[in-house]
Amino acid sequence: MTEPLAIRVRNALDGIVNPATGRSLVADGAVKGLSAGEDGVVRFTLEFAGGDRRACEAALEKAKTAVSAIDGVVSVSAIATAHAEKPAPTAQQVQSAHANPLGLQNQKKRQIEEAAETLTGVKRIIAVASGKGGVGKSTLSANLAVAMGRLGIRVGLLDADIYGPSLPTLLGLHRRAEMRDGKLIPFEAHGIRAMSIGVIVDPDQALAWRGPMVMGALGQLMRDVEWGELDVMLVDTPPGTGDAHLSLIQSKRLSGAVIVSTPQELALADVRRGVALFRKTGTPIIGVIENMAWLEGPGGAKQHLFGEGGAQKAARDLGAPFLGAVPIYPDLRMASDSGTPLAATDHPCADVFMALAEKIAAFTASI
Ligand code: ADP
Repeated sequence: MTEPLAIRVRNALDGIVNPATGRSLVADGAVKGLSAGEDGVVRFTLEFAGGDRRACEAALEKAKTAVSAIDGVVSVSAIATAHAEKPAPTAQQVQSAHANPLGLQNQKKRQIEEAAETLTGVKRIIAVASGKGGVGKSTLSANLAVAMGRLGIRVGLLDADIYGPSLPTLLGLHRRAEMRDGKLIPFEAHGIRAMSIGVIVDPDQALAWRGPMVMGALGQLMRDVEWGELDVMLVDTPPGTGDAHLSLIQSKRLSGAVIVSTPQELALADVRRGVALFRKTGTPIIGVIENMAWLEGPGGAKQHLFGEGGAQKAARDLGAPFLGAVPIYPDLRMASDSGTPLAATDHPCADVFMALAEKIAAFTASI
């Protein structure tokens, strides 16, 4: 069976060396906003933390050539960005995150707090996080939100993933957001309310955004959207542990975090970092979900393309709950590209999402 295009693209990029570090581009998390559509159109950004400009450009060319050579790829649109590497927060910075994450200026700090205070009708806020991009965080966020909606929970989905604001595609939202009394009206789709940073800004521009702007956008998505009464708001956060996560922690409104990973060891190192950040700031880890756990062959045999049970083991080692595994469903990718979350249908994977949604709902009901 042919592997899904997105996976073949990732594998091709895994073979390209990041000149800034000497490691694979994928291992370094340098590949952002990867999308590989059914139509063979592939887009991605390579984000280099430093490194010689010419060498970075050469790596971009190599990546484009490798992806263009993949069967089924019709066009490749890729850009490279470079920025100075920001060191990971020190233990001391993390510990003081409740007081003032990363020494945010008072003004920024107040803005986030004030924005979060406007969410008076929202009972619980849950972050969906991942160590790396391309692990299916947005796909799972959208399907889990829809599945929770099917349980009768009033759910809002806030897509704050600036690197790949994919919610408009995932939910088929191709219309402009409307405004009433100066506030954006969230979309109502598949039983949930949703708003995406991709609706507010041009996704191509969004790629150039950095820390302080992420915080501004997150504040805007909280403050300027008429969310109304919600039992749960899921926030699809950018990959990694950056300013968006620290802002959410800072807002003191975060009830818990769900962490998505593939079984791959490289993705798992970042999961450990994410768990450590949430834990040190007292944010409960609702659990880890292993995505792309296996691909079922025609005879029902499981092919573990990214290794077996890695996320489950990492969760166990970290003492975090393991919520469950989501296999690779070629239908899920196709449906996501066409704007139908499969959690809203009678596809077998809807059962997987319903079971996960029940566990998250049990957590929110228990606090
Ligand atoms: P992230 O938000 O972590 O960057 P996405 O949700 O955008 O990742 O997923 C990356 C790609 O993988 C998309 O093309 C998506 O449709 C596909 N994908 C995610 N999870 C699965 C899965 N379980 N089975 C098949 N395809 C998946």
